[in-house]
Amino acid sequence: MSQRKAVALISGGLDSMLAAKVIQDQGIHVEGINFYTGFCVEGHTHAIRKKDKIKPKRNNALWTAEQLGIKLHIVDIIEEYKDIVLNPKHGYGAHLNPCLDCKIFMVSKAKQWIAENNFDFIITGEVIGQRPMSQRRETMPIVSRESGADDLLLRPLCAKNLPETRPELEGWVKRDGLHDFSGRTRKPQMALAESFGFKDYAQPAGGCCFLTDEAYSDKLADLWEARGKRQYELDDIMLLKVGRHIRPKSNFKLIVAREEGEARFLEGYKKTYAHMSPESHRGPLTLIDGEVSEEDLILAAQITARYSQGREADQVTVKVVQNGEVKQLDVTPMPAHKLPTEWHV
Ligand code: SF4
Repeated sequence: MSQRKAVALISGGLDSMLAAKVIQDQGIHVEGINFYTGFCVEGHTHAIRKKDKIKPKRNNALWTAEQLGIKLHIVDIIEEYKDIVLNPKHGYGAHLNPCLDCKIFMVSKAKQWIAENNFDFIITGEVIGQRPMSQRRETMPIVSRESGADDLLLRPLCAKNLPETRPELEGWVKRDGLHDFSGRTRKPQMALAESFGFKDYAQPAGGCCFLTDEAYSDKLADLWEARGKRQYELDDIMLLKVGRHIRPKSNFKLIVAREEGEARFLEGYKKTYAHMSPESHRGPLTLIDGEVSEEDLILAAQITARYSQGREADQVTVKVVQNGEVKQLDVTPMPAHKLPTEWHV
């Protein structure tokens, strides 16, 4: 019999790494698949912000694959994923995270992938009860069924708590070598990691993407409201990960760099957005998203000045670039207590 082949959904977190290892150890050929939605936490904010310099700049999915010695397929699903974020059939979690629809979608893409690549089954690092929305006893069969993967979806970390799947029934893998983890505790995973000699691994707090973050979801909802339609492009969701986002009035929003790394990143958007930065003092680059009047520009300049080294000065000169025209505005920095609320992640 030829060696059986499984594709593992690799998020970069510990669970998917363990699930792949458990199956690898049963003599199955495992390859990884990682879906890029644009909302992924990794390899972006940490790479941009100077203060996060100590954090490793690695892409955890690639790093996981390297640890396991498996090939990793990174699949861009940005366009198709929009419908999942905008119209989740099963609704959202605590924020704008459509976790259940997302899981179903990713497993369905993996199902398509195994058919095209001649693989036998799919594995995920799901654990019953681990996550409130997508990883519950009731949702496990929903993911299997609605993705079309059915009994070709094996969850090695909690398989013993679930009905037998085809890989077990056919004897491709031994049920005895699978696990019965459940609940929110991470202890069994940590013990298993220890037994495999995995010491350094990523431990995502809320989830694998920014949609589980409250401030991020608020900014996305605000973007939809301001534009009058629920829609986004990749640049929009990238910018939501960077800087202070401040909406002084309903017609415009400011994105103010918090530090050098962010300023460099925002520089890349100077052609698309009107922007400003203090000239008389050191201070941040601010992008302006929306149609603004002269009066709005003064307000924006006062806020930008507030975040500059001239925050206590009587006057700060701010350079404004709008539609190719350059001008200077002399403004008094906005007092701290008058600053509109800001969001940042
Ligand atoms: S946290 Fe994000 S990537 Fe993970 S399942 Fe939920 S929506 Fe999908």
